[in-house]
Amino acid sequence: MNRFYTLSTALRQIFNKPVQKIPLDSGATCPNRDSTLSTKGCIFCNDSGTSAGLFDKGTSFEKQWLHWKNELKNNKSKHFIAYLQSYSNTYMPFEKLQATCQQLIKLNDAVGVSIATRPDCLDLEKIELIDNLPFDFIQLDLGLQSSFDKTLNFINRGHSVKDFEKILLLTKNTRIFVCVHFMLGLPYEYGKRESSKEFLEHMTYVNALPIQSVKLHNCLVLKNTPLAKLYADKQYVPLEEAEYIETIGEALQILDPRMVVKRINTDTSNDDCIAPLWATNKAQLLRDIQHYLIDAKAWQGAKHPLGKNTLPAWFQHDSSQNFKDYI
Ligand code: SF4
Repeated sequence: MNRFYTLSTALRQIFNKPVQKIPLDSGATCPNRDSTLSTKGCIFCNDSGTSAGLFDKGTSFEKQWLHWKNELKNNKSKHFIAYLQSYSNTYMPFEKLQATCQQLIKLNDAVGVSIATRPDCLDLEKIELIDNLPFDFIQLDLGLQSSFDKTLNFINRGHSVKDFEKILLLTKNTRIFVCVHFMLGLPYEYGKRESSKEFLEHMTYVNALPIQSVKLHNCLVLKNTPLAKLYADKQYVPLEEAEYIETIGEALQILDPRMVVKRINTDTSNDDCIAPLWATNKAQLLRDIQHYLIDAKAWQGAKHPLGKNTLPAWFQHDSSQNFKDYI
C-alpha cells in the first residue's frame, strides 16, 4: 500500500495498462558545462551528466529503443514512455528539437514521452512543439533543486528562481505534465546546508505552482564533482539517514495530495557515490519512508487542506479499515 501518489499509480490511471519507461540518450549537452554559462556545471553534477554516451557512439533512438525493449521482453509492459534523461534535452536549436521529436513519434509502442531539461533551455516555441506531440502522456522534468536563490547561486545552477517561474508560466494551460526536482541537504555556503525546515518550505512553495509532479531526493556527493572537493575539505557534511527519512515523511504530508511523486530516492549508479552511502540502498530507503508514514498514521497531504480530512482517491487502503484508523 502506497501512502503517497506514485508515478506508477498515475500512469495506471492514465493508461489502464502497465507502462514502462525506456531511457534514451539524445546526445544533448548543457549550457552550464559547455561554457555558455559555465564549464563547471552544478556543484553536485559529474561530467557524464548521467549520460550513457550511447548517442556519441552513434546509437540511434531506434536502436536504443529496440535494445531496451529486448531487455524488457519478459516484462508485462507492452507500451513504453521514451525518457530523455541525461543533460538538458531541449538545449538545442528549435529545428534540431523538432527533428528529435519526429524520431520520438516514430518509435514503435511509444505512448508517452518524458523530457528532462533546465528551465532556461525552454521558450514558448519549444513548449508548443512539445505540447503538440501526439502522445497521451507528455512530461517535462524541470530541475530547480531549491526555491532559494542563495542556494542556486552557491551550487552554480546558472539560473534564478524567477527564471524558472517565468518559463513555468508558459506551460500553464498546456497538456504538459510538469515535474520539478528538489534536493534535500544542498549547501548554500561553505560549511552550511539547507535545513529540514527550509526543505519543508520548498513543499509549501511547490503547492502554489501550476505543476503536477515532484521528484525529491537527497544531495549526493559524487566522484569528480566540486562537491566531492568540498566534502574532502570538510566544508560539506551530507545528511544523516534518519534526518532524510523524517524530512521526506513530513514533506509528503505537507504536499498537495494531487501532486504525483515521481521519486523519493536517487537513481545514480552506486559506483559514482562517495557519500552518503545509505542513499544507495534505495529499496530499503523507500520501505523506511513508508514505515515512517505508517507509524505517524499519515499519508501524502495529511497536513494539506485537501488531504487532511479525507483519504486521497489514489490511497488504496485496506477496505476493512476506516478513515478513523489512520488518524
Ligand atoms: S543542469 Fe543538469 S546536466 Fe547541467 S550541470 Fe546542472 S545537473 Fe549537470
